[in-house]
Amino acid sequence: MQFGNSAAAGLLQQRGRPDLTIVGGVSVGQVIAFANQKGGVAKTTTTLNLGVALVERGKRVLCVDLDPQSNLTMSQGIDPDDLERTMFDVLVHKTPIEDVILRREIDLAASSIDLAGAELALSSMIGRERALQKALLPVRSAYDYILIDTPPSLGLLTINALTASDGVIVPVQCEYLSLRGLIQLENTLTMIRENLNPDVRIKGILPTMFDGRTLHSREAVEILQENFGDLVFETKIRKTIRYAEAPVKGTSVLKYDSKGNAAKAYRDLAGEVLRNGKAK
Ligand code: ADP
Ligand code: MG
Repeated sequence: MQFGNSAAAGLLQQRGRPDLTIVGGVSVGQVIAFANQKGGVAKTTTTLNLGVALVERGKRVLCVDLDPQSNLTMSQGIDPDDLERTMFDVLVHKTPIEDVILRREIDLAASSIDLAGAELALSSMIGRERALQKALLPVRSAYDYILIDTPPSLGLLTINALTASDGVIVPVQCEYLSLRGLIQLENTLTMIRENLNPDVRIKGILPTMFDGRTLHSREAVEILQENFGDLVFETKIRKTIRYAEAPVKGTSVLKYDSKGNAAKAYRDLAGEVLRNGKAK
């Protein structure tokens, strides 16, 4: 990774703080987007549970809900309809992001269905791709990690997330047809690097809904590893109903079933992210 202030960055790296980036001489947290234009691949599940696992390791974590479906907001037991101000106001009306952050298991910048109107409202604005990047600036030094959940599309909301991010984690369901969608995501990332954010890179590809009993699942992971090599996380997230049960209780799986394998998987992933093992 290239840093503007390379001496300071080198020191921080040597002192084992891979979660710090240097912006204008100030150390700030890493911004990571969770993206895949396919729905139902565990973007939201991963944003929340990785976030909570990082909190367990003493990190300060902000999760940003950038999906109008507001699943991340709901999975912390919040009814989006009760919210006065949300990420829509942050992006479109320049409301300070601090005003929409709720303190739960992680700090959460919440959303509601209003966000569905943000793409249209932003589309006529100058700097429409950088609205989120600008909004995050005042809080970047308050967090070690800012994790952004994105909608299942490559529209302006996802482009805002990728423009604001240092890295992208791509959850991929262990199925052949899911793998093909990665090419489209890679093309979008190339466009973002060329035009908006030269430094954004894939931080890792996360196999999700893995079922070790089926040949198909094992083959899907092999195809991922053949194509993306070291970028594929060693941690695989297995298929289990626990991940669907936890949001019903308004909690992460780490709180819902703290000692179970589902929680352990995201703790393992947090370990890999902290080691910053997956760097392109
Ligand atoms: P996305 O945000 O990509 O649309 P979600 O995180 O909402 O995906 O996950 C889609 C559905 O699958 C949710 O009901 C979720 O609880 C469930 N789910 C997520 N991860 C797993 C898993 N490893 N095994 C089984 N179900 C899962
Ligand atoms: Mg989602």
